[in-house]
Amino acid sequence: MALHLEESEQAFARGQERIPGGVNSPVRALKAVGGTPFFAASASGAWVTDLDGNQYVDYILSYGPMILGHGNPEVTRAVQETAEKGLSFGAPTAGEVDMAELLCGVLPGMDQVRLVNSGTEATMSAIRVARGYTQRDTIIKFTGCYHGHADYLLVKSGSGAATFGVPDSLGVPKDVARTTLSFPYNDPTPVVERLREGDVAAVILEPVAGNMGCIPPEPGFLETLREVCTETGTVLIFDEVMTGFRVGWKSAQGLYGVQPDMTCLGKIIGGGMPVGAYGGKAEIMDVVSPMGGVYQAGTLSGNPISVAAGLTTLGALQVPGVYDRLEAATTQLTEGLLEAAAEAGVPVTVNRVGSMFTLFFGEHPVKNMDDTAACDHERFASFFHGMRERGVNLPPSQYEACFVSLAHTEEQISHTISAASAVFHEWVS
Ligand code: PMP
Repeated sequence: MALHLEESEQAFARGQERIPGGVNSPVRALKAVGGTPFFAASASGAWVTDLDGNQYVDYILSYGPMILGHGNPEVTRAVQETAEKGLSFGAPTAGEVDMAELLCGVLPGMDQVRLVNSGTEATMSAIRVARGYTQRDTIIKFTGCYHGHADYLLVKSGSGAATFGVPDSLGVPKDVARTTLSFPYNDPTPVVERLREGDVAAVILEPVAGNMGCIPPEPGFLETLREVCTETGTVLIFDEVMTGFRVGWKSAQGLYGVQPDMTCLGKIIGGGMPVGAYGGKAEIMDVVSPMGGVYQAGTLSGNPISVAAGLTTLGALQVPGVYDRLEAATTQLTEGLLEAAAEAGVPVTVNRVGSMFTLFFGEHPVKNMDDTAACDHERFASFFHGMRERGVNLPPSQYEACFVSLAHTEEQISHTISAASAVFHEWVS
């Protein structure tokens, strides 16, 4: 059942001549699972269509932002109308204030927020602010959490960095990497001990990890970090670039009832356009230039098109019942996948929080990076290709999370479960 990918193969071959690996973000090259990436031509709802006209039910959704589905007419209209008025100005626009008011209204710990252009910029800036505020240098992260590609955050990180076996990137000066300490996710004890030395500027984490597959926080993990950060004057940063407005309207911090000192956002708040944001308590954000001494800037920051797409997306997410619908659709899917695997005798584990999930090929509980590493990655690769041949587009690594949108239909979900069942049966027959 081989896919016809001639047009994509040609584009990929051309791309490899002029773009490193033929792609503008490494995971897209499919190195972990092998094969040719398809080149996207268009997308609508939960469908994505490639250059050869193959259609797939999409669980990548631009790695999270397209929570309404692709090509939402209201978002498209907002983008078009805004574009007609000018693409960017180098002057503030009212939409940026609307966005800031909305974000600060939803997240109780956010008094002020600054918009940037990517998740990487958001986390990088938040760390600088936390360091400036505390006048301390050391930061703590968790192994397998990915916070973008700033030097001091590419230490034992997840997502593509883990997939390609380079969680610690070349090119990061040793002296910079030394300022970052990494601890196992979901194990607060060693972190508590280290924080009590009193010299750590910030603890940054994904409150639900998505970059070593989907891994929820164990009960007490976030709460303990909150307590010890307060006790030691350490800035607790939740990187909600992926989880923000994904796992619930109030994001992971609302879902688990733990308030960080700073929050990083991205993805959904740009509705598919480039964006990032970092914010927090007024006392901390006061150190940001031009009010304070921490410099951070951006020519295209607060871009009107991104803001319009984001505000329209967030508007649609305020309709009552929306998150229940997402949760129901995702539960139906994950339960169907579990049943199909059990019926075929394939050992799997599913982790799900809201509309974010990962199907792990292993029977053990997956609570940290070592657990993800211990999964059967060859099986995952075979699953990825089997699903793609059957018209289902999954992220190409066990170290990624899948996303469900409001546009996924019952039929598309049933088709996904049947496709998985067919792949599982192929293995055991
Ligand atoms: N933080 C998290 C939790 C992410 O998942 C990502 C990207 N997937 C980033 C930061 C970096 O965002 P960007 O790719 O927009 O730089």
